[in-house]
Amino acid sequence: MALRTIRTLGDEVLNKPCKVVKEITPRVKTLIEDMIETMYEADGVGLAAPQVGVLKRIVVIDVGEGPFVMINPKVLETSGEQTGSEGCLSVPGKFGIVTRPNYAKVLAYDEEMKEVIIEGTELKARALLHEIDHLDGKLYVDKVEGDLIDVERPEEEE
Ligand code: ZN
Repeated sequence: MALRTIRTLGDEVLNKPCKVVKEITPRVKTLIEDMIETMYEADGVGLAAPQVGVLKRIVVIDVGEGPFVMINPKVLETSGEQTGSEGCLSVPGKFGIVTRPNYAKVLAYDEEMKEVIIEGTELKARALLHEIDHLDGKLYVDKVEGDLIDVERPEEEE
């Protein structure tokens, strides 16, 4: 396993649509392992393949329940609404207020290409939808209400 470099805002790879994954090759397996490691190292709750420069429809998420992978995810259903702060490993040091559905149900494939249904509310729904947006070249900064806000660093606090 190895850490990968996280691409940041302005890198055009983040604005491109990703390709469907047809089979799990050793290369894809390594990518998934590296993405999980990179997500933990960066203290994130999710990471999409384009964020490490790979245009494949692969996402890893851990909202505190353990890591899972979604390959070729497709949103089946959403409902409700939540408004809250959201950040992205590709937009370091910032957050913004984004309104999204409060519930999401997703059809995807796991690391063995078995079909899985993943659903969640609140933070999990937000993470599912945020990461799937990445696969279509979309970033949360385009959905932010108002301005991006700087994350205050502890050393700057009085
Ligand atoms: Zn993101």
